[in-house]
This record gives sequence, C-alpha cells and structure tokens, in this order.
Amino acid sequence: MKTFDTHTDIWYDVSLKKEKGKNDVLRTYHLPRLKSGNVWGINAAVWTNPKIENPMDKFLQMLGARSEQIKLMNHEDFVFAQTHTQIVDALKNDKVAVISSIEGLIGIGKNIDFIVTLYELGFRIMSLTWNEVNDLAAGCGCDDASKGLNDLGKEAIKIMEKLGIILDISHLSEKSFWDVIKIVQKPVIATHSNVFSLCPVPRNLKDEQIKVIAQAGGLIGISALPQIVDRENPTIEKVIEHITYVANLVGIDHICLGFDFSDYLKTDESLKNTVQKQTTGLEDTTKVPALIELLEKNGFTQKEIEKISWYNFFNFLKDNLG
Ligand SMILES: [Zn+2]
Repeated sequence: MKTFDTHTDIWYDVSLKKEKGKNDVLRTYHLPRLKSGNVWGINAAVWTNPKIENPMDKFLQMLGARSEQIKLMNHEDFVFAQTHTQIVDALKNDKVAVISSIEGLIGIGKNIDFIVTLYELGFRIMSLTWNEVNDLAAGCGCDDASKGLNDLGKEAIKIMEKLGIILDISHLSEKSFWDVIKIVQKPVIATHSNVFSLCPVPRNLKDEQIKVIAQAGGLIGISALPQIVDRENPTIEKVIEHITYVANLVGIDHICLGFDFSDYLKTDESLKNTVQKQTTGLEDTTKVPALIELLEKNGFTQKEIEKISWYNFFNFLKDNLG
C-alpha cells in the first residue's frame, strides 16, 4: 500500500550533503529508500535552523540546493508537484510526487511579500515558525504564554490563503495556534504533530486543538519523531496509539502520516543531540510497511489504512491547493 509522507526534511539533508560535495542526493540516497518503504509522495520541507548565526543565509542556500536537485533530476524519478494533477500524473508514471514546503518562515525575516516569490518557486505548504519566536509568530519553544501570532503573521496568512498555500500549524505555540484558528478561512494541517494526552510535550496537540482542526476539514499528520511519540520509550506500537487516539476522537478522515524521519541528519553537528535515537520499529522510511502491517493487526480496515496512508492527504491537496 502506497504512502504519502506529509513531512520530511529531505531538503535540509540535500543542502548538508551538498556542503560536503555530494550531489544528486535525492536520487542516489533517498529514492531507493522511499521505494523500499513504498512511499510515493513526500511533502519535503525547507527547514531553517533558527539557532544558527545567519538563518537567512542558510535559507537561501537551501533554496539553491533544492533548485539544483530539481534541475539534476530531469523529472526522471520525481515530479516536483505544484498541483493535484501533477501528483496524479506522477503516480501514473511510477514517479515519486514531491510537494515543497517551508518549515518556519524565519528565513524571510519581515519580508512577507517574499511568500509570493516562494509560491512562484513552487512552495505550496508553509508554517510560520519552527520552535522559535520570529517576526510572524511564537513557536512551541516559547515560554511566554502571552506571545502568539502578531500582525505581520496575520498578513502572511492572508497572502498564503489568497495564493492557495496551505498553512501548516505544527510547531506553533498554543497561543499562536488559537490566534491562527480565529482568523483562518481555510482548513489547516498539522503536517507532523502527535497527541498531547499521550505524550505531553509542547510540540503535540491537545484534544481541543485536534477537534478544531478536524471540524474545519483539516488533517493531523502523525509523526515518528521519538521526542513526540513517547518521552521514555518511543516505539512503533506507541505510534499506533497516537493514530488510534485521533481516530477515536475525530475519525479516520482527519489522519495522515508525517513521519519526520531524522536518521539521515545525524551527521550534522548542530542536530547531534536531537537525532540520537529513533522510534523503535519505525526508524526510517524503509520501515513504513511495518507500520501499515501493524495497523492491520490492530483492526484497521484496508479502506481506513488507505485513507490514513494516502488518500486523506491526497484529497486534501485536491481541495486546498491553489
Ligand atoms: Zn518539525
């Protein structure tokens, strides 16, 4: 059964490896792994680490690395999809569909008009922040509960909605989340967030947040990132618990899978401490079929699994891409 991964940091990996002189990373490294995991769609994020000295530089470097990959690929193995039709065509031709997204807009600073430029470059999903507080909003790493979405962030959302860019609310602080919910006109997605009741960390979503996302037709992408699966013992079984919890709370139709596999980022000095361990049984893309199998064993029907692994996100893109 094919899977659409609603969050991967592949562009970050591409830029790291490019710094070390490796080119064509998407095809030579990631493609065989995606195929082995039966992953035929990915939402690939450009993530800017806010902790580094000059995030804007890194952001531009990653945009360049991404463009180079697209050029190198010649569309032989991947389709860099900006529309739903392009995803359908990718599947028909046995190619992997790649949606491009921005994880945290710190790289644009206050220049929100640059969102239009990013749209022109093919980016179709964006989140305002990673964990940090930036010019648009407060991320979930912010200790000050009074900080949320600011005026520039509100303008950014208006631009995104006008263009047909999907808003990703993963990583927002709780205050930012509720500020966002007050103003959005379109459904939102949490591309990679789990259940707070099962793993109480600021990155995860409380029941009321999950409900309000679902009520508006949005999606929650359940993640394999160990820190948000379980603080002590992250396992594939625990990932099933997160999926089951959301299914019971709001129904199957609002679940997708945003793994956030980080196994390939271990080599990066600044990330060494965050990617030490992986979720047992779901360590990387090649293990996705094990999750599908375990969903079956836990009583999910074929139709339900197909929705979770592919169709919910696929149809969401059909309805919400501009
Ligand atoms: Zn993330």
